[in-house]
Amino acid sequence: MIRHISYVLDECLETRTPRVACLLLFHGVLFGRRPETAGNRKREKGINMYQLNTHASFDSAHFLAGYEGKCRNLHGHRWKLSVTIQKEKVEEQGQTRGMVVDFGELKDKVKEIADEFDHALIVEKDTLKTKTIEALREEDFRIIEVKFRPTAENFARYFYDRIKQDGYDVSYVEVYETPNNCAIYGE
Ligand SMILES: [Zn+2]
Repeated sequence: MIRHISYVLDECLETRTPRVACLLLFHGVLFGRRPETAGNRKREKGINMYQLNTHASFDSAHFLAGYEGKCRNLHGHRWKLSVTIQKEKVEEQGQTRGMVVDFGELKDKVKEIADEFDHALIVEKDTLKTKTIEALREEDFRIIEVKFRPTAENFARYFYDRIKQDGYDVSYVEVYETPNNCAIYGE
């Protein structure tokens, strides 16, 4: 479940303000606050947490099928994927003594995921005709079909799940479509 999404709106997302505002109200979340993640709730209760953040970016194209506005047209972004992980204690033994995790490994993981989506056209499955997809592939264009509408919110949730599956204690994931716009997902 999406617990928190916060936005600084402009450009492409500007036309989506009313819907996003409704979403925020529905979840009872205020603008300008960090996500209500487990780590942040623990800190509010006086339990200290370490947090690590790393980010990577990728350039890719997408469109929002069925959207009444300019985002329905094919366009590109430099997406920034920012991942924050958390732990109450640092490792006490071994090579990672004094660390939350091996930062190099975390950076490599985030970069690996970002590289997967780099220089591609990201398409929600079944929103383009099969013959269109085939024609694009015949031209050797790189197409990535995803099972979700490729919004920043859905990407934030998708990347959160991917990194959590790799065993990291993810606090929240931020996905920027532009330097000033981001969606945040945390649990
Ligand atoms: Zn876009």
